[in-house]
Amino acid sequence: MNSMNLALVNEDPEQKKRKHSARVEIEGELCKECLLCIEACAPDVLKVSQKLNKLGYHAVEYIGEGCTGCGVCFYVCPEPGTIKVYKRINES
Ligand code: SF4
Ligand code: SF4
Repeated sequence: MNSMNLALVNEDPEQKKRKHSARVEIEGELCKECLLCIEACAPDVLKVSQKLNKLGYHAVEYIGEGCTGCGVCFYVCPEPGTIKVYKRINES
């Protein structure tokens, strides 16, 4: 694990406007449907898309709520830049 990886689990500048304290973003065009992130996500908030991406895979998507910001999906994903996790650091 290097500091670049840790920097991706950071504070989202838009987060204060959002209802939830954490969220995940998945770049669907980079996903290769290995499903490691789905297997690793304890609250089960990731799902496989119905659509194929440009690489011919059904990309994983966030269901839109329930992400805890744990970052596990980010660390298990073998495709660099595919998953970003945002978590509110300062609750004030
Ligand atoms: S950060 Fe954690 S809770 Fe959120 S989608 Fe990834 S594994 Fe699931
Ligand atoms: S771990 Fe990464 S490449 Fe694998 S299914 Fe999840 S987002 Fe796609």
